[in-house]
Amino acid sequence: MLRSELFVWSIEVRGLVQGVGFRPSVWRLAQDLDLAGTVRNTPRGVIIEIASSPQTRDHFISRLRAELPRLARIDEVSIMAAPDQAMPSGFTILESLDGKVAAAITPDAAICPACADEILDSANRRFSYAFANCTHCGPRLTIMRQIPYDRANTAMSKFPMCRACRDEYEDTTDRRFHAEPIACAQCGPGLWLESTDGPMPVLQGDEIATAARVLRSGGIVALKGLGGFHIACRADNDAVIERLRRQKRRDAKPFAVMAHSLEHIALYAQVNTIEADWLASPSGPIVLLKVRSPSPLPSIIAPDQDRIGFMLPTTPLHFLLMQAIGMPLVMTSANMSGEPQFIDNDTACSQLFNIADAILFHDRDIENRVDDSVVRHDTTGATILRRARGYAPAPLLLPQLFYGKAPVFATGADIKSAFCIAANGEAIISQHLGDLDEPATLGEYRRTAQLYMELFEHRPQVIAHDMHPTYRSAGLAHRLAGEFNAVLFPVQHHHAHLAACMAENHAENDATLGIILDGAGYGTDGTIWGGEFLAGNYSGFQRVAHFQPVPLLGGDKAATEPWRNAYAHLRLALGNGFTEGEFKDLPVMRQLSAKPIVVLESLMHNRRLAPLSSSAGRLFDAFASIIGAAQMHVSYEGQTGMRLETLAGPHMETATPFDMCSPLDVAIISWRGLWHSVLHDLKRGADAGHLSARFHQSLIKIVSDMAIHQHHVTSIDRIALSGGVFQNRLLLQGVHAALEKYGLQVLVHHAVPANDGGIALGQAAIAMANQT
Ligand SMILES: [Zn+2]
Ligand SMILES: [Zn+2]
Repeated sequence: MLRSELFVWSIEVRGLVQGVGFRPSVWRLAQDLDLAGTVRNTPRGVIIEIASSPQTRDHFISRLRAELPRLARIDEVSIMAAPDQAMPSGFTILESLDGKVAAAITPDAAICPACADEILDSANRRFSYAFANCTHCGPRLTIMRQIPYDRANTAMSKFPMCRACRDEYEDTTDRRFHAEPIACAQCGPGLWLESTDGPMPVLQGDEIATAARVLRSGGIVALKGLGGFHIACRADNDAVIERLRRQKRRDAKPFAVMAHSLEHIALYAQVNTIEADWLASPSGPIVLLKVRSPSPLPSIIAPDQDRIGFMLPTTPLHFLLMQAIGMPLVMTSANMSGEPQFIDNDTACSQLFNIADAILFHDRDIENRVDDSVVRHDTTGATILRRARGYAPAPLLLPQLFYGKAPVFATGADIKSAFCIAANGEAIISQHLGDLDEPATLGEYRRTAQLYMELFEHRPQVIAHDMHPTYRSAGLAHRLAGEFNAVLFPVQHHHAHLAACMAENHAENDATLGIILDGAGYGTDGTIWGGEFLAGNYSGFQRVAHFQPVPLLGGDKAATEPWRNAYAHLRLALGNGFTEGEFKDLPVMRQLSAKPIVVLESLMHNRRLAPLSSSAGRLFDAFASIIGAAQMHVSYEGQTGMRLETLAGPHMETATPFDMCSPLDVAIISWRGLWHSVLHDLKRGADAGHLSARFHQSLIKIVSDMAIHQHHVTSIDRIALSGGVFQNRLLLQGVHAALEKYGLQVLVHHAVPANDGGIALGQAAIAMANQT
């Protein structure tokens, strides 16, 4: 083709295209197709200019999409005819426009197959090197200190590249071209092992083999990972896991298990192809899997659960350790219960020897604490339960209506906190940060917010926050509003859940009915909400129906002592003196009658010490307590729900809903009929599994019947399911199936958690939609 027949095209690509080896892959493709042109980073993405016919251009773009580097993601491609200009004869990678690369901070990525091969190859110069990485894998957010993203601004600044690494770094054709954390044993971070007595003697210079020996002999080893320390022990040894639980003061919350391959995981749990893809993905999350029956692993790993979280090794260090030990390990984050996990060597040294027999340290600093992410797959698709390592800070593209809005910072919720910054039609949600009641977490939150605003050059004009008057995240919002001279925008908790679900599903501003089931959120009437049917969109909402409000006896105590909810629910359903009535011989009645009835009765009418709440979470607590499936104290949020789900699982197919006789036109779902049916069943000696399955079926029925009823009243035919209680797989699948069967469009969460970890996105969307 003559050069005069060529057009020059300017192709703008948005998505995850910086810091992921995208420009070299464009370069290789251009070489392959013999195209002249350039590629460069811009603050918005990447601009490729090529001289070609329209046909070749389209072929180039389709191959670009098909041959993306492992960590890249294309969200948007826009093509323009470039103004007349001289094209160079070859294809060149240009330096970034004005050096600003706002979008280059990508999530940390699990070791890629090529790096894994190298560290297992005794002839390779990175053989057994625990910090190998390339443009397709390795640390990113966890080592970032400031922009621009280059080595000097990361935890790698103290490791000058050796000659060999520098050659790879500068070679356009190399997998390590511009891989900022590039390292080898000559120039990069190193390992050492310590016990309580100081540095440990190491077998043949191999710290990992020595750590594996400690683990194999039943020891507990802490190791410095990517975004924090892990604590590991054999997953097949009851005694050591029990010791770990005792020393970590974590009595019931499930542990995750790491195994060295998918084949190995499949020995212990059922893995479908989607779950296998998640496990092996660059994000490398913990994936909740159905344990084989009978379980080959001790039940103490996840007491009363039929699912265990599994993960594959994601760093070269974990990879080499798993190779060396060849058996599954319990792998849990190193923290004391409730506190954030340790990230620095000194704290680990002073705290972790209370738990671990040895600690495997390294000298690359963890700049940002990032927890392991958790994912689950069910019939509605894959959903993220905790969004952290491997996902943050990847941007989410927002629906069209959010383009051109003023920048927003949304502070999220106090439990499972995560914040969101939104601008330019994109939302960036921080990694899961934890509960803000914990002072260390609050400090971490402030520091991380500061970092994100610097990394993404974000200057918010609006600060969105939960309308709860005493939330710490609302306090943070006030402080930020002062700092940035920004406007405050309070958002109702469940409205934020609805908007989060809409936004991540790319929904425009059409009317949607949100079924929002969670533990607690502050309502516009000053009561605590949590079993809500909201008709609305990003702009606003109306509470069209809700669960019956029930007093939370003792306020916050009701969230950790399920029996308090059993008392309140039964008292409302059966009346005064209910423990001595027709059901007095049931264990739950004997248990409740032993409580200080006079105090509880006075609380029933005390709105200050026992605020009313329509909470769905507390309904589960009440039910679990009534059928004898709850502890006196729960030790982690969602414990009773997970217990009930496990109990119900095998009986869901055959179970029928309880007869609840609840009319739908009053818009308040009462549980009176449910409790009568449950108590009669208990009296007949029904077992907890059947009762729990009937309870789930009842909830599915009443919730979907109410949604269908509201659909008829309001003509809204799009339903969003959100709130932490929808992390219950049976409930989610059941309601989803019932509503789809009825012909309604159902939105569920995939990319952000249904729990409070997702609400910052909703707050940001609502604040933007309400900008004038
Ligand atoms: Zn790699
Ligand atoms: Zn090197």
